[in-house]
Amino acid sequence: PRTPLIAGNWKMHGRLTMARELASAVAHGAPAGIDVLLCPPFPYLAPVAVTLQGSHVHLGAQNLATEAEGAYTGEVSGDMLADLQCGYVLVGHSERRTLYGETDDVVAAKFQRAQAAGLTPVLCIGETLAEREAGDTETVIARQLDAVLAQVGVEALQQAVLAYEPVWAIGTGLTATPAQAQAVHRFIRARIEARDGQIAASLRILYGGSVKADNAASLLAETDIDGGLIGGASLDADSFLAICQAA
Ligand code: 13P
Repeated sequence: PRTPLIAGNWKMHGRLTMARELASAVAHGAPAGIDVLLCPPFPYLAPVAVTLQGSHVHLGAQNLATEAEGAYTGEVSGDMLADLQCGYVLVGHSERRTLYGETDDVVAAKFQRAQAAGLTPVLCIGETLAEREAGDTETVIARQLDAVLAQVGVEALQQAVLAYEPVWAIGTGLTATPAQAQAVHRFIRARIEARDGQIAASLRILYGGSVKADNAASLLAETDIDGGLIGGASLDADSFLAICQAA
């Protein structure tokens, strides 16, 4: 019942020409029957929106402000993203948490702000290597998830996507094995099931962390893995489209 979603997080890569070419290739090559999402850097949202017009590829941003409007120099609001045809926005990516000090509370505020602007938040959660080795994976995942649910309630997940991204697998070439990823995805879905079975059954949970064309199919074959959040491999149209084909 869950339509697969393959999302490309371009992070802070590329230039305008590349953004247009990559978006155009994805717009032309994206297979039917799945959802495809591109998350370019802020300055390229508007030109990529133009490139994607008439295609079924969705547009999303990588971040948004916790506030709705005001004297917040350098920030970008959810409403502004909605103006640029964004339907989605990433919140709580591990790079935001680690490099920019975003706490669980900040992430929850961004999640709420995204939905208030009519955007679908893609909430990213995941443990570090030290946390995994200490046996704390489920504790960390539960904390990150519950921090948001405490603010918004489980019903908010009807209009949201989750992404499990083990920090140790991001940009490292180390992928969680399908079984490792599935175990955490199952844990996440079970935690939501305990609150609302229907919402848990329809919620898409993406896996992210060194997903490539050659490992995508085995990850996506797992019961509770409903798509992928792709970093490095989303910067190459052929690789990204191969991952889309595997979904
Ligand atoms: P990589 O695919 O480059 O490991 O990045 C994953 C990620 O952080 C996507 O948000």
